[in-house]
Amino acid sequence: MTKRNPNFANLKDHYLFPEINQRKKAFLAEHPEAKLISLGIGDTTEPLLPHITSTLCQGASSLGERDTYTGYGPEQGYSDLREIIAKTIYRGSVTPDEVFISDGAKCDIGRLQLLFGSDVSIALQDPAYPVYLDGSIMQGVSRITLLPCTPENDFFPDLTKAKGCDLLYFCSPNNPTGATATRQQLKSLVDFAREQRSIIIYDSAYSAYIQNSDCPKSIFEIEGAKEVALETSSFSKMAGFTGVRLGWTVVPKDLFFEDGSSVHKDWSRLISTLFNGASNIAQNGGLGVLSERGLEEVKTHIAFYLENARLLKEALENFEVYGGENAPYLWVKFPGKSSWEVFQEFLEELHLVTTPGSGFGPSGEGFLRFSAFSSRENVQKAIKRFSKISTFV
Ligand code: PLP
Repeated sequence: MTKRNPNFANLKDHYLFPEINQRKKAFLAEHPEAKLISLGIGDTTEPLLPHITSTLCQGASSLGERDTYTGYGPEQGYSDLREIIAKTIYRGSVTPDEVFISDGAKCDIGRLQLLFGSDVSIALQDPAYPVYLDGSIMQGVSRITLLPCTPENDFFPDLTKAKGCDLLYFCSPNNPTGATATRQQLKSLVDFAREQRSIIIYDSAYSAYIQNSDCPKSIFEIEGAKEVALETSSFSKMAGFTGVRLGWTVVPKDLFFEDGSSVHKDWSRLISTLFNGASNIAQNGGLGVLSERGLEEVKTHIAFYLENARLLKEALENFEVYGGENAPYLWVKFPGKSSWEVFQEFLEELHLVTTPGSGFGPSGEGFLRFSAFSSRENVQKAIKRFSKISTFV
């Protein structure tokens, strides 16, 4: 019989979101009349804006004409999209051939994990987006260091704990804490990686939310980063493309493995072997997003969710709340209670669905994540229900 991949036995049983759904279902089975509002999802809720929508439609209709029909594109992505990303997002600090278009940052993180294989030691923020840890475990990585990110260290880890690590995962703005690293903090991260000769896998999926000019939108704003970092990013949260599926990864040509071989070259090889390119319709939409009109639309999209975050933060002012200013997530501490306990209380008492912080790592215990991805109406309704929080926390 076929043997199970033993790495899968090393994964923790419960994945966060199935457990949340199970609890929601159980609650609704007992209280079918309850009008649940979700502040728990990390998924955009608002429709695409008109110019961006029209470029997606145009991408689709061009496939219906003999003269403009296209099949497979280059695995690395359309050259005009690679160019506009290098120019608009990175202001020329990376070259178009260092940009690889993908079907999303999550998929690229999985492929990066395949690139580096199992014989690496990794360090990652705790709490963090679950894919860094679970994807690594699936690959067979066993040398894993969690770097606690808490209010006490301003959500920036003690890097000395990552000494000797081959790979450092870093996400800013962070999901789930909403913490956004300053230029000084990122400089210390890059300096550390240079000293250690480690590679940083930098996730900037939420960079479009950064409002503070002291917080870089890309690791490549830091001098020397191209020798130690690659960056994966996405149109998902920037432009509501979570379902459209479009992202990219920048792999600098200055990045090398221990034996002097090129990371860029291996990544090109991996992409052309295992990936057949992002959807041509989605790439057309990506060009629309990064056009002048598209970028104006993106601004309104981001401003909408940040206003949701501001309203939620204001309504929670009596609590210890982090994030929400440069990120669509609020990270709220409920001292003396476990995350699942408070999650259940919010569900039962307020009919609000949140996300338990402990699902993102042990340092998330005692916190809930509130997402600003919601309609304004639901945010306002949720805020009204907050007045009852003091009765149970
Ligand atoms: N990175 C982070 C930190 C995320 O929170 C998410 C999605 O929630 C992703 C990557 C996934 O992005 P994509 O939709 O491009 O796969």
